[in-house]
Amino acid sequence: MRLFEFEGKQILSRYGLRTPRGKVAATPEEAAAAARELGGPVVVKSQVLVGGRGKAGGVKFASTPEEAKEIAATLLGTALKGETIKQLLIEEQLKIKEEYYLGLTIDPIAGQPVLMLSPEGGVDIEEVNARSPEKIGRLLIDVREGLPPYAGRQLARRMGMAGKILVDIGMAAAGLYQAFRHLDAIIAEINPLVVTEDGSLIAADSKFDLDDDAMYRHREYSLDGRIEGETELEKRARRLGIKYVELDGNIGIAGNGAGLMMTTVDLVERFGGRAANFVEAGGAGAQAGSGEGAINWWDTVIQLVLSNPKVEVLFFNLLGGNHRGDEVAQGIIRGLKNSRPVPAVIRLSGTRQEEGRAILREAGYSSYDSLEEAAQAAVKLAQEVGS
Ligand code: GDP
Ligand code: MN
Repeated sequence: MRLFEFEGKQILSRYGLRTPRGKVAATPEEAAAAARELGGPVVVKSQVLVGGRGKAGGVKFASTPEEAKEIAATLLGTALKGETIKQLLIEEQLKIKEEYYLGLTIDPIAGQPVLMLSPEGGVDIEEVNARSPEKIGRLLIDVREGLPPYAGRQLARRMGMAGKILVDIGMAAAGLYQAFRHLDAIIAEINPLVVTEDGSLIAADSKFDLDDDAMYRHREYSLDGRIEGETELEKRARRLGIKYVELDGNIGIAGNGAGLMMTTVDLVERFGGRAANFVEAGGAGAQAGSGEGAINWWDTVIQLVLSNPKVEVLFFNLLGGNHRGDEVAQGIIRGLKNSRPVPAVIRLSGTRQEEGRAILREAGYSSYDSLEEAAQAAVKLAQEVGS
């Protein structure tokens, strides 16, 4: 999961690196206030999760708060490389003398973290790598030893650097490595890491990419607000651990198994119907356990599907392995009661299928064993309500 520049810089400063003074702004007024507070010329930086913002016009300079406000007004709400700008980072302008690149990632071949340092920062590092790979110094890190400041100093010396800067680079690399480890990052980059006219070493940019599989250890960072175009419904589903895909027909499809759900969508289309959405809830649902927990889970799933107003028919398809048919049936009935009464076609097979079907029958719903028959029935219903 990618972090915003301002989040990355907060981390960097916790780990002892210097960052420019700055404030986040979400409106032109806030941008002006931030500039006034910082005093002097500022940089207005679009907070989007894509690289190359500078080249694309997402990083601008302002000499007065009024100018910062004007620039903010032109940036906020517009798209930068396909991503809507919702926030800006207003920072003091630095008097830059030199621009370096400092980064950490995992070397896939060595299976170790690798520190990279280049005196050619401020530009696309892939470009430097293609043009003159010798300009990027690399150091593989033994995780048992970590990255002590002297190792970073040695790399800097190897890259032709000398003087006070060596000490600062050593400290910056060591701090960056600590942050990289503690946050389970797969990328931690500072480009540019600048030397200012007064000789300070300051992180002018930051890029952190955290390992998605380790996000449970970093609950302070959520995906909320990071997924371009995510709808409220998709957000709710994501928070529940449910895979939710919005389509444009009128049949709401839910059940277990991503492959089975895709097959279900395909079958519906083959018989002339259109899916409104598809919901795969089996994987996350396995954690709901059995009994009331399981019934509540399927209730929630059905409510989620039906909260899409396009859904006129529910097509539920379960191949019961991890889930008990009787509990799933009770959950479906509860979900339909708790949301809105739409015609439903239920295909239920696997564990306790007979018990499940009996429960459904009793509540007035028909259920199927054959997927093809169920799909045809769902399409027929959808055409009836649609006409
Ligand atoms: P990116 O293009 O998304 O990587 O965004 P950056 O944060 O790297 O900004 C782009 C460029 O703007 C940097 O490479 C710098 O050269 C320049 N820049 C950023 N902050 C400052 C600053 O405070 N002062 C000056 N003079 N230039 C800056
Ligand atoms: Mn950059």
